[in-house]
Amino acid sequence: MTQTATRTQARKPASKPAPARKIRLILAAAGDMPAVARIETEGKAALYAVREVAGQPQARMFCVREVVTSDEVETYTCYIGEKTQSCTCQGWNRHRKCKHADGLAVLVKIGKI
Ligand SMILES: [Zn+2]
Repeated sequence: MTQTATRTQARKPASKPAPARKIRLILAAAGDMPAVARIETEGKAALYAVREVAGQPQARMFCVREVVTSDEVETYTCYIGEKTQSCTCQGWNRHRKCKHADGLAVLVKIGKI
């Protein structure tokens, strides 16, 4: 007689793969003019005005503005440290990850901003 044992294993929650993102510095900051960065997420692109503001000793701080529509501008503050980053957007509040902080961290790391 053959016994069949079934074992119930705890399933790992299905994790969605991170969306494909690209960031590109379109214009470097010049004088009072902010830098302009383009962030593309899964084929959808948006342009952001990026201005560095007074930061903290451990992190650089950036004001990031996106013109969503002619009547709507979203403004976020991103903190980019050597090992930490954060943003004031909803994505960061929900997931502790967002395209703004990830993108700016890359631009800081490669010395573009
Ligand atoms: Zn963000």
